[in-house]
Amino acid sequence: MVKRVAIIGAGVSGLASIKCCLDEGMEPTCFERSDDIGGLWRFTECAEEGRASIYSSVFTNSCKEMMCYPDFPFPEDFPNYMHNSKLQEYIHMYVKHFSLLRYIKFKTLACSIRKHPNFAATGQWDVITERNGQEESATFDAVMICSGHHVYPNLPAEHFPGIKKFKGSYFHSRNYKGPAKFKGKRVLVIGLGNSGSDIAVELSSTASQVYLSSRSGSWLMSRVWDKGYPWDMLVLTRFQTFLRNTLPISLANWLYVRQMNTWFKHENYGLMPVNGTLRKEPVFNDDLPSRIMCGMVMVKPNVKEFTETSAVFEDGTVQENIDFVIFATGYSYSYPFMEDEAIIKCRDNEVTLYKGILPPQLEKPTMAVIGLVQSLGAIIPTSELQARWARHSQILCTTRMNPLLNTCPSPSRYGQSNTLQMDYIVYMDELASAIGVKPNILLLFLTDPKLALEVYFGPCSPYQYRLTGPGKWEGARCAILTQWDRTLKVTRTRVVPGSQNCFPFFCLLAMLALPLLLAVIFLMFL
Ligand code: FAD
Ligand code: NAP
Repeated sequence: MVKRVAIIGAGVSGLASIKCCLDEGMEPTCFERSDDIGGLWRFTECAEEGRASIYSSVFTNSCKEMMCYPDFPFPEDFPNYMHNSKLQEYIHMYVKHFSLLRYIKFKTLACSIRKHPNFAATGQWDVITERNGQEESATFDAVMICSGHHVYPNLPAEHFPGIKKFKGSYFHSRNYKGPAKFKGKRVLVIGLGNSGSDIAVELSSTASQVYLSSRSGSWLMSRVWDKGYPWDMLVLTRFQTFLRNTLPISLANWLYVRQMNTWFKHENYGLMPVNGTLRKEPVFNDDLPSRIMCGMVMVKPNVKEFTETSAVFEDGTVQENIDFVIFATGYSYSYPFMEDEAIIKCRDNEVTLYKGILPPQLEKPTMAVIGLVQSLGAIIPTSELQARWARHSQILCTTRMNPLLNTCPSPSRYGQSNTLQMDYIVYMDELASAIGVKPNILLLFLTDPKLALEVYFGPCSPYQYRLTGPGKWEGARCAILTQWDRTLKVTRTRVVPGSQNCFPFFCLLAMLALPLLLAVIFLMFL
């Protein structure tokens, strides 16, 4: 029997879910409250209710080879890290290529989702939607929640004493769109996440002074990593993951801190995390250190209190004549359309989901939350694999859900966080194993050593999860073997003789030598 699946939201997660339902022979209906696809990546001049909102200068912090849908590489002439408008162009190409548009009902708000009266037997859901003031109700066999997790601002302003008497303006980064109105002003940005650092850097060329307040610091990474290669193509490899997870924790921590400090010494820039060994999400910003160096951005500790015109910091320093305070303090989750929100959101702002996807206490595993987990990897391939895993598990109905099996690692590694933080490759492999699409590295070394080397030592690009098993894509092998060509094509726009292809050769040499070196060290200690 064809199963009817309701998908809430047509952002990158919802689109992956539509395609995956179609691949599994199901009948998806996607409800999108706005009038277009793309979710967060569809820039508008004003924030829209219930939809994520970005500033006009947002660039991706995952590169094109690491953030594509695994059976749909970016065009080779797209830049490695791209402006939001370029990503939106790609999203439109994906929808057109796989003919997904006809499954989306635009301007349709999912306003209520509740268990069907016979849920225990059927696992069905009643979904009420609203379009042009008209309500409609329908019953679905499964629901995929793809409504986004960067929508509802965490605005802790009232926790800061004195904010009520502060005479300047304050608002959340969700409402920041661009630098125009800050010309010549003194701006305080609170929060050293990706939003806070982007906004501080952008304003530093317009405002008269920018202060960036951080309560616990962050590691800062550049998109341009060793020898100028994209950071994620070098850091997110199976080999590095293996080393990280097998080395003694103290050695792994030491190497991590050392690696994070290679670009510049964080303590000299006031950015050093309070606990440097936590794998909290780093901040990607290529310009912040130079803005700090030039005095255009001044890093400050947490704010103790506000007066009418100034901010008093925890170290006792005071900055006078602050015109604007921007709270770049992140987001909270909310599922206002769930009749019983506790199905997803247990304890206050905490979420417990089996494999970061399925609410564990349901009698039938017919609801999936897609795109909530947070890792160093990009969201598109993560959501895509989650959707495939969820559909597969739900069809087979073999999933015995046990919250203890939740792959959410212990908080000690990532620190306190509301997000479900995962190690990207470990998590992806776990989902992939369960549905039979994880590449078998040993077998690959025996049957296709060239590909095996790239899969194990090279970037863990999304194509790896379409090499084999259900949903195998014939183009995956070629996409993996040509990923560096597409990466370099857009930067080698003035080719110099003798500069070709030295990366893979020397890198492979180094990678092959390293296990040997480790074996020697290991033997020395025996
Ligand atoms: P969204 O893109 O938020 O889409 C959700 C959709 O659901 C929206 O279209 C919304 O209108 C719709 N919707 C919501 N509620 C309802 C309802 N009740 N009824 C009907 N429709 C509804 N991740 C990366 O991997 N790389 C990056 O470089 C990156 N950059 C980011 C930059 C910023 C500024 C932010 C805030 C986040 C960034 N992220 C990045 C994370 C980002 O959340 C994901 O990239 C991605 O956009 C999430 O997609 P999604 O489909 O899950 O949700
Ligand atoms: P975020 O990553 O959650 O960062 C929020 C920041 O606010 C943290 O530094 C946090 O400090 C601080 N904060 C929270 N509550 C506070 C309080 N009460 N007092 C003081 N400080 C407080 O939020 P975000 O920067 O908006 O990013 C959200 C997501 O979007 C992330 O996944 C990010 O990667 C993504 N993003 C990507 C880009 C891009 O370039 N592509 C741009 C923007 C955002 P602590 O660390 O101490 O908690």
